[in-house]
Amino acid sequence: MGKPHVLVVPYPAQGHVIPFMELSRHLAKQGIKISFVNTEFNHKRVIHAFGKSVDDSGLFRLVSVPDGLEDGEDRNQIGKLIESLCQVMPRQLKDLIQKVNASDDDKISCVLADISMGLALDVAAELGIPTAALWPASMFQLVFILRIPEHIDEGLIDENGTPLMKDKMFQLSPTTPAIHPTNFLWLNIDAFPSTQKILFDFLRGNNRAVETADWLLCNSCLELEPEGFNLVPKILPIGPLSAANRLGNLSGNFWPEDPTCMQWLDQQPPGSVIYVAFGSFTVFDQIQFKELALGLELTNRPFLWVVREDITKGKHHVYPQGFVERVGNRGKMVSWAPQGAVLEHSSIACFISHCGWNSTLEGVSNGVPFLCWPYFADQFLNESYICDIWKVGLKFERGERGIIEKEEIKSKVEQLVGDDNIRTRAVELKQKVTKSVGEGGISDKVLKDFVEWLKS
Ligand code: UDP
Repeated sequence: MGKPHVLVVPYPAQGHVIPFMELSRHLAKQGIKISFVNTEFNHKRVIHAFGKSVDDSGLFRLVSVPDGLEDGEDRNQIGKLIESLCQVMPRQLKDLIQKVNASDDDKISCVLADISMGLALDVAAELGIPTAALWPASMFQLVFILRIPEHIDEGLIDENGTPLMKDKMFQLSPTTPAIHPTNFLWLNIDAFPSTQKILFDFLRGNNRAVETADWLLCNSCLELEPEGFNLVPKILPIGPLSAANRLGNLSGNFWPEDPTCMQWLDQQPPGSVIYVAFGSFTVFDQIQFKELALGLELTNRPFLWVVREDITKGKHHVYPQGFVERVGNRGKMVSWAPQGAVLEHSSIACFISHCGWNSTLEGVSNGVPFLCWPYFADQFLNESYICDIWKVGLKFERGERGIIEKEEIKSKVEQLVGDDNIRTRAVELKQKVTKSVGEGGISDKVLKDFVEWLKS
C-alpha cells in the first residue's frame, strides 16, 4: 500500500488558501502526501510571491486547474467566479484526480475540500474517494448558513434569502454574535440582487457537504465558540491553525511579503505600534483612505500600515499632501506584511483590522486588542465576537459624512491603549486559545485523530 495522499481544494481566495496551506503543511510534516489545488490564476500568484517553484518539495506539491475565466477577467466579481467554478471545476478536478492516480504510485486517498467547495466533495464521492471538509471561518458563520432552512421556516428570510425582518438584529443567544440582516453573508458582499441570489444558492447548496463528508472540521476552537460547536457537534474544532503551526516561509500568500517592516518593528518600543491591515479584498475610496492616513498621523504613535497596491478604487492610492514627509520614520507603509510575525512582535499595541476571520484568529492568538473596521462578508459578525462577546476590542463609529473620521481614529486608539481591562482579557483569551492547540488541548487532539484517520 502507498502513502496516504490528500488532494486539498480550498475556495480560491486568500483567506481560504492560507488556512488550507497551514493544515496541509502540517499534514505533510506527518508523512502525508499533499497535492494542493489552486486555480491557475492563484497558483501563479502563490509561486510569484514565494519566489521559486515549490513543486518538488517531497511530500508537498502545488497543482492547478483553470477557473474557467479568461486572463484579464475580474476574479473579485464573486457571482461570475462562482458560476464559472461550478461549471468547469468538477470536470477539471475529475481529470486531475485521474491523471494523478495514473501517474503516481500513491493514489489519492482523501479529498480535503473547503465546505464552500462542495463540488469537490461531490467529485470525490462519485469516484469513491473518502472526504474531509474544512470550514475556514467562524463556527457561528457556518451554523448560520446551515440553519438557512430554519431561518426560512421561522420567517427571518424568504426562499431567495431576502430578509423579512429588516431592522431587527439577529442573535441566536446572548453568547453568540449579533448581526443586522443587511449583513447576512450573501447580502453584503455585492450590491446586485442577482449576485446575492447566486451567492445564497451557492452557500445553501454547499450545506449538503456537511451531510456527506467523512470528517467535518472548523478553523476555530471550543474556547472561542462553545455554543457554535454545541449546536452542531459533528463539526470538530481544529484551530486556530495559524497558532498550531509555525510553518515559516511558504504560507500561500498572493503577494510577496515586505520583510523590512520586521527590522522597523525591532526599533520601536514594546507595546507602542498600531498595526493597520485590511486583508486581501477590502477596497477604500480615496476620501476614507486619506482620512485614515490623517487619523494615524494624529495619534502621534508609531504605526505599521499595509497599503496593498489595489487598496483604493482605481488602484492609485494618493496620500494626503505632505503626509509621508510629516510622519517620516514614525509610519511604515508596506504593500504586504508577514502578518503572523508582525502580530507576534512585542512592539505591537493594537490592531486596526477589517476583522477577516484569519486576522481575527491571528490577533486573538497573540493577545492583541482590536479596533474593528469591518467592510463585508463575515467581518461584522467577527466584530461582534471581538467587541460584544470576547470584549477584546472596540468598534469605530462613522461620522456625519458616513466615513470614519480622523478624530474618531485618534480617540479610539487612545481609549483602547488606555483600557487595562481589554488588554487583560486579550491576554487571557490568548492563553485559552493557545491551550486548545497545545499538547492535550481539544483542537490538538482533533488534529491528531484526523492525521491517524488519514493514515489508516
Ligand atoms: N495577510 C498577510 N499580510 C498582510 C495582510 C494580510 O499575510 O499584509 C494575511 C493575514 O495574516 C490573513 C490573510 O492574509 O491570514 C487575510 O485573511 P482574512 O480572513 O483576515 O481576510 P480576507 O483577506 O479574507 O478578507
